Amino acid sequence: LFITLEGPDGSGKSTQIEYLREYFHGKGIETVLTREPGGTEIGEKLRDIILDKGNCEMCDMTEALLYAASRAQHVNQLIKPALEAGKVVVCDRFIDSSIAYQGYGRKLGDAVRVINELAVDGCMPDLTFLMEISPEIGKSRIKSESQDRLEQEKIEFHNRVYAGYREIARFYPARFAEIDAARDKLSIKKDILGRIEKILND
Ligand code: C5P
Repeated sequence: LFITLEGPDGSGKSTQIEYLREYFHGKGIETVLTREPGGTEIGEKLRDIILDKGNCEMCDMTEALLYAASRAQHVNQLIKPALEAGKVVVCDRFIDSSIAYQGYGRKLGDAVRVINELAVDGCMPDLTFLMEISPEIGKSRIKSESQDRLEQEKIEFHNRVYAGYREIARFYPARFAEIDAARDKLSIKKDILGRIEKILND
């Protein structure tokens, strides 16, 4: 079972991932928790390059290709082997982040889907939770000291990303579960675990 969490910055993905860890642990199900960009040694190095606060300018296509490169490594080295070993994989951001941030946010369009289809090599999530919260509210939840280069993007960029996410979810209704992430964390947890129990019991 391959689960991904998607959504704007400050949408509470990490809190819910911690609940998922407790849930699967309680059930005795071996689970790999991972994140993008990152998840492998090479991926974490690429994360540092991509999210670097420095003054270096990075062109949009470079950014998209670096995310895709990090993802190719992640899929090959960690995600595929774990799924093949029968483990559950929970990933904080995956292909839909690229399509939303670089495709819609940076307006690179369909090129992002194409390079990422190469990167994931058929390894797609079974279930994707889209944490729905407006970028303004999400942003207000993030402490200013933890803001990085991308979090300082203009609000219009984040609005395009958010609209993009919702469009992707409409394209793939079978894979996506849209979660109202403006509620308290325990209500969100209940929704998410409800969806997972349904899959596990089918
Ligand atoms: O998930 P996390 O908050 O660690 O993501 C780090 C940053 O990378 C976020 O600011 C997110 O908006 C950005 N990001 C991006 N494009 C992606 C994935 C993440 O701009 N494909």
